[in-house]
Amino acid sequence: MKITRIETFLVPPRWLFCRIETDDGVVGWGEPVVEGRAEVVRAAVDVLAEYLIGQDPLRIEDHWQVMTRGGFYRGGPVLSSAVAGIDQALWDIAGKSYGAPVHALLGGPVRDRARVYAWVGGDSPAQLADDIAAQVEAGFTAVKMNAAGRVSPHPSVAEINGVVGRVATAREVLGPDRDVAVDCHGRFSAAGARRLVHELAPLQPLFVEEPLLPDQDNLLAGVTAAAGPVPIATGERLYGRAGFLPALQAGIAVAQPDLSHAGGISEVRRIASLAETFGAHLAPHCPLGPLALAASLQVVFATPNFLIQEQSLGIHYNKEADLLSYVLDPEPFRFTDGYAARTDLPGLGVQIDESAVRAADRAPHAWRNPVWRHEDGSFAEW
Ligand SMILES: [Mg+2]
Repeated sequence: MKITRIETFLVPPRWLFCRIETDDGVVGWGEPVVEGRAEVVRAAVDVLAEYLIGQDPLRIEDHWQVMTRGGFYRGGPVLSSAVAGIDQALWDIAGKSYGAPVHALLGGPVRDRARVYAWVGGDSPAQLADDIAAQVEAGFTAVKMNAAGRVSPHPSVAEINGVVGRVATAREVLGPDRDVAVDCHGRFSAAGARRLVHELAPLQPLFVEEPLLPDQDNLLAGVTAAAGPVPIATGERLYGRAGFLPALQAGIAVAQPDLSHAGGISEVRRIASLAETFGAHLAPHCPLGPLALAASLQVVFATPNFLIQEQSLGIHYNKEADLLSYVLDPEPFRFTDGYAARTDLPGLGVQIDESAVRAADRAPHAWRNPVWRHEDGSFAEW
């Protein structure tokens, strides 16, 4: 079997899909994207495709090595995301070729269903209580909310109290039997994060996510120490084992690699194993589309140290299309009692609506994240 064609598709709301065709008719799909930089990842996929055309798609690890290490300059979000989406598609081909789900090729399932959480509230969560009640009604046992929208890195007392008040509202609606996770989006300084996690401790969040930007992970140990019993999570902006090692050494409890950024199924599998040696759990980041989520689920069905899976149904970023817009069968993404059931469909286990994907790409999106400013006109982290 040989790879004969690699195509990419810019599909709303902000995704890039990759389709790899082989000479014996097996087709694999993946999702190589950096949100807001999708066209740049598309160019990176085109460059990697020069090497892959004519190769045996089943030599996944060898291709991963060449794609990741075959260039003198390597790593970073764009290249790692391009590799990630291609890697997903190669695993999809392998599964379809062997007639097995990817989790079977990773050593077989270790669980029958995977707990998922739902997003609530936007960056300005005015409707928080109603949104949480709706997700509870839909069966979810955990939700994630942003700590705050635009916020000063060195937060005021009012800003800290605002976050604590919103999380308290969430806790009240959820009760003691459900969980809330709080995403800081890297919007706080180390000092601000230390104060915030300390104040949140009595509300017992499932975890507090990305208290610092990844380029300040040298200060992360101080935040995990200040957090006391609050589990700290990070990783959506880390791109491989080397990025996760210092975060794990700093004491994070939850590793959140993104299957579409951190080298795909091959590398996230290894990140999970690395996290296991630190007693940390895996909670793959996934505000993305159906292929990224399918790839995430394949990994977590075969990963012992798994905590919970993110998914993007109803997420506030997605306006024109969502998780189910490009799949022929929504069944793999029908969540029951807050869990995704394991399926034994071959490959990634998702059937892509190719005509919908091709139609969407004919009017390609150019999604960019907002650029925020503080009251004084200076740049603010989004
Ligand atoms: Mg996040």
